[in-house]
Amino acid sequence: MADCVTIVGGGLAGLMLGIGLRQRGVPATVWEVGRYPRHRVCGGFISGRGQASLARLGLLAGLVEAGAGTAVSAAFYSGEGRIAARPLPESALCISRFRLDQWLAREFQRLGGELRVGTRWTGGYGEGVVRAAGRRPEPVADGWRMLGLKVHARGIALDADLEMHFVPNGYVGLCRFPGGEVNVCGLFRSAVPVPDLAQRWREWLSGPADSTLHSRMAGAQIDEDSFCSVAGLSLSPHRATDRTEWCIGDALTMIPPMTGNGMSMAFESAELALDPLERFSRHQASWSEAQQEYARACDNTFRVRLRWAAWLQRAYFIPAARTALFVAARSQRCWRGLFERTR
Ligand SMILES: Cc1cc2nc3c(=O)[nH]c(=O)nc-3n(C[C@H](O)[C@H](O)[C@H](O)COP(=O)(O)OP(=O)(O)OC[C@H]3O[C@@H](n4cnc5c(N)ncnc54)[C@H](O)[C@@H]3O)c2cc1C
Repeated sequence: MADCVTIVGGGLAGLMLGIGLRQRGVPATVWEVGRYPRHRVCGGFISGRGQASLARLGLLAGLVEAGAGTAVSAAFYSGEGRIAARPLPESALCISRFRLDQWLAREFQRLGGELRVGTRWTGGYGEGVVRAAGRRPEPVADGWRMLGLKVHARGIALDADLEMHFVPNGYVGLCRFPGGEVNVCGLFRSAVPVPDLAQRWREWLSGPADSTLHSRMAGAQIDEDSFCSVAGLSLSPHRATDRTEWCIGDALTMIPPMTGNGMSMAFESAELALDPLERFSRHQASWSEAQQEYARACDNTFRVRLRWAAWLQRAYFIPAARTALFVAARSQRCWRGLFERTR
């Protein structure tokens, strides 16, 4: 008889882990403080090895039924000019978190998982408890306040399945969903508190008046109910082996959103946790042995991309480095290299 695993957080990492455990016959309970469906600040662009994790758990076909589309091209815009639509080195999945999280939650319950929604876990993170509670808020990081904004809109014509718009204080991704909806999601930094965000988020997401982003947003029909924001993001990389708690997804470490790889890391880390957690649950390994095995696997898997992503994020906010990056990314070789090293 396997012991039950408690998973704190019913986002992508927690639900994926719960599904994987249930597929192996391991009892699992997910605690989620929110309710489904709900909007999340996210670009909705699933790129990288997490797609293979989803496939191995047999979830890809269901996701397509739930509304996931395929992205095959990307274009980039900045004050320095534009990089016209070009094929992605590897296709990505596009789906709104509104649909994705709900679909995963249903799948977990269909497999017999216990889902406690609207309930905050207030216990500790000792034996048998996995932390999948998402990012750890950090109000000010390196002197900056990082914030994320997201809204859905219609009536935006895009040149590519994913458009990345680089604006002076951040970046905005426009991702095409099946059915014509566009996910508009930005990451910004501010040296001072932003008190009037509730009134001014359109300005933030529309970019400078003379930008392509501004013209895209000018004619957009915005779904106001889909707006959400998040602040206090910490984008410094963390090693799993430095943590004593068992953490997956953003609770382990956040990769800068410009790479479009955070969801992938949530799926991948959940998959990496399956074997050692099953052994713990079946009394074949102690908690600390299993946790350390998992942590080493995570560090090996994520080290390179975290390093490159942190470097890119830092360079992005240095004007000269940003210009150099934009020019370099015009070369197919350089673009491919950056794409591969950040996923
Ligand atoms: C601006 C921005 C854009 C992004 N764009 C992309 C993108 O295009 N592609 C990509 O791959 N990634 C993107 N990401 C990253 C991606 O959203 C995250 O990596 C992903 O959501 C991590 O999933 P998670 O399950 O670890 O955390 P979350 O999705 O945050 O889930 C954590 C869950 O835990 C719950 N919770 C927290 N505390 C408790 C508690 N005590 N008790 C019960 N429940 C609790 C929360 O309610 C939440 O539902 C973006 C992030 C930002 C900020």
